[in-house]
Amino acid sequence: MSATPILSPVDSLTQKKELTIPPLLGASVAELTAWVQQQGQPAYRGKQLHEWIYQKGVRSLADISVFSKQWRAEVAEIPIGRSTLHYRSVAPDHTVKYLLQLVDGQIIESVGIPTFGRRSAGGENSKSRLTVCVSTQVGCPMACDFCATGKGGYKRNLARHEIVDQVLTVQEDFQQRVSHVVFMGMGEPLLNIDHVLEAIRSLNQDVGIGQRSLTISTVGIRDRIRQFAQHHLQVTLAVSLHAPNQALREQLIPSAHSYPIEDLLTECREYVEITGRRVTFEYVLLAGVNDLPQHALELAQRLRGFQSHVNLIPYNPIQEADYKRPRHDQIASFVKVLEQQKIAVSVRYSRGLEADAACGQLRASK
Ligand code: SAH
Repeated sequence: MSATPILSPVDSLTQKKELTIPPLLGASVAELTAWVQQQGQPAYRGKQLHEWIYQKGVRSLADISVFSKQWRAEVAEIPIGRSTLHYRSVAPDHTVKYLLQLVDGQIIESVGIPTFGRRSAGGENSKSRLTVCVSTQVGCPMACDFCATGKGGYKRNLARHEIVDQVLTVQEDFQQRVSHVVFMGMGEPLLNIDHVLEAIRSLNQDVGIGQRSLTISTVGIRDRIRQFAQHHLQVTLAVSLHAPNQALREQLIPSAHSYPIEDLLTECREYVEITGRRVTFEYVLLAGVNDLPQHALELAQRLRGFQSHVNLIPYNPIQEADYKRPRHDQIASFVKVLEQQKIAVSVRYSRGLEADAACGQLRASK
């Protein structure tokens, strides 16, 4: 991984002699321009290609009507890199779950989460949002005890086009611009950091989603948060903490054995210092396991003075684990302790529960 910021105006790829960029999705205007020129076409075709891929969502170069018939025929077989829809289901709360099939037959899951504008007390309509939850790997090697994705094992990293494609697919289906992207689907984003960084660049510059509307969620991989911080992005970093101490964290997250909570928090502090952005700590609430008032107090002590925000996720049931979601009053007491300790906290009631599309339920099956 080079130390050059990924959002620099000139892409390193354009400086390479050999341009082997297809699949084209995920490429910048500069890369696409270099590629069309290499094909003997005038430079302005690059901009046109960019618009057709990202704005019009074209799936085959043969369909780009502004290109000459002859050239379209020549490049018809060059892949843009779109997936095919394998299955789609809509939950009663309007969350849509997609199973997408990749060229090698692998299936991944993505989720579209609409939030409808609410009328505020002043009578104004807040803007409706469309959030996409994207996968970054086929399966996941982290094997957290309470998460369905890890139970199915790990297959491979996703390429940049396979990440960007998920956002375009949801945008197309909803006929609405995607406003937010959360890297919280299948997989551990920081184990696929190069492609995730490329996808962030593309979602930001090609698809047009603001960096602050992108969130990367990680369980924590040694040195990777530090590495991620070096890119000085304005994206939100969410860290899956899930426990206030090392012993409990090890019980829930196998990788915690070799990457202690103190080391993880040190890297998170560096992230705050380098980027000036606060970190979100995710904490899945498991009844009787990590949801007691004493856990909340210990968590508050651990995070004291840290520019952070705690996001509590009441456990979403999965078949392979017998954890339970805490009752409302238990969740409320946990929140109260954190608030009393002046820790910023919110509760995320996952959407899409009925479609098996909620946090931790993604397993690439219907
Ligand atoms: N690998 C990344 C992103 C994937 S999961 C990470 O670990 O952060 C997104 C969030 O859902 C994580 O915080 C994850 O711990 C949480 N999660 C996993 N299983 C869950 C479950 N059954 N119920 C609620 N949240 C869960």
